[in-house]
Amino acid sequence: KIITRFAPSPTGFLHIGGARTALFNYYFAKHVGGEFHLRIEDTDKARSTEAATQAILDGLDWLGLSYDGDIVFQSRNAEAHVAAAHALLESGKAYRCYLTPKELEAIRETPSDTAFRSPYRDSTEVLDKPFTVRFRVPDGQTKIHDHVQGDITWDNENFDDLVLLRADGTPTYMLAVVVDDHNMGVTHVVRGDDHLINAGRQSQIYDALEWDIPDWAHVPLIHGPDGKKLSKRHGALGVEAYRDMGYLPGGLRNYLLKLGWAHGDNELFFTDDDIAKVFTLDGINSAPARLDFDKMDYINAQHIAQADNADLFAKAQPFFETANGAVLNAIQTNRVKAAMDSLKPRAKILKDLPEQAEYLLSTRPLSISGKSAKIFRKDGVLDLLRSFTLTLKSLKDSQWTQDSLQSAITKFAEQNDIGFGKIGQPVRAALTAGAPSPDLSLVLALLGKDEVIGRIDDVLS
Ligand code: GLU
Repeated sequence: KIITRFAPSPTGFLHIGGARTALFNYYFAKHVGGEFHLRIEDTDKARSTEAATQAILDGLDWLGLSYDGDIVFQSRNAEAHVAAAHALLESGKAYRCYLTPKELEAIRETPSDTAFRSPYRDSTEVLDKPFTVRFRVPDGQTKIHDHVQGDITWDNENFDDLVLLRADGTPTYMLAVVVDDHNMGVTHVVRGDDHLINAGRQSQIYDALEWDIPDWAHVPLIHGPDGKKLSKRHGALGVEAYRDMGYLPGGLRNYLLKLGWAHGDNELFFTDDDIAKVFTLDGINSAPARLDFDKMDYINAQHIAQADNADLFAKAQPFFETANGAVLNAIQTNRVKAAMDSLKPRAKILKDLPEQAEYLLSTRPLSISGKSAKIFRKDGVLDLLRSFTLTLKSLKDSQWTQDSLQSAITKFAEQNDIGFGKIGQPVRAALTAGAPSPDLSLVLALLGKDEVIGRIDDVLS
């Protein structure tokens, strides 16, 4: 059974790079009917916070990345880590190093062309002094096959004899990851390529423990649009910031996945089921991925366009409230809900929805200025409006539909021997004050008879 894992260190928010790594693990496991696990690497007590763990969980939850089984907290596995270190001591694959921090510092300060080897490496003496457990890097070479980076070979003489267990008995990252991945049954390690060299080191530890080495896939990091390492100046780094900007979870999933992962037909838009069906690790590009906000918007727009209206409204509600400055009242809510189909095609992010719906949220009397106000000062416009309201008033409630309204306007224009715009323009100005709006007949239908006549009357009075 294929088992993948996402193993963030809880030191901040859920970084979009981390989210992308999590996605790759998630979809790969889904693609093969495997399991996706979550491990919180909280061994660095000074840097790990509960709030950061919560932020990661919230981020994954919002993204819709559900993990299998229970969360594994690395800090609770110390016993297993220590046991593995002792097993390595026992088998001679690791050794006790009695160097004091001071002595170590002195060695480090002496320039050297070779990797670190402790003077205690070949000593069998057991002293009554604090010691670290160091890995005895074997001779020869270390080879791995990586699903993204291909075949890689390292000369072992370039690897330091790393500390596995510190003098205070706590395990290091390198040991903890190997032991946890082994105990969790992880078959595929998919993570950022900043860990590529660790795959070499960890392979040696797996071998020393006589455990099966997992498959590796080291995913290139995300870079900014300028090709430089992603940083704050490129824009938001945390997943929650994208949520707050109004990206849909499905849109962000789709975008992050497509970022550096190519599928044959180069289609940009994917639903979850599509992805799970076609995702493989070998499709991940080995070149760094560059963030492209236009593409992100383009993909998100398609997810908005295809979203279920009720679900979309629920997700967009906070954005409507912000734009409206208050909770929407019943009338506004009904109008917006009825208008969803016309709002969706023009929205890239959720924030665009209330922008498109401004004319539906406004309350009478609208404040009309600028270009829109000028329209009413043209000769004969107010008379035309007055006459048009009579037409509107004569419509029965059953005729207040987009189609009937469309014919009513067309007929009115014909009867008055004017082009559609001559009446359309001032009506639109009276109803929207120049805010974005769809087809005029739809604007009339969505606002309803009383509101339409009221808004026009406000202009006339
Ligand atoms: N905790 C490590 C990190 O956040 C990841 C370790 C791993 O995936 O092996 O970078």
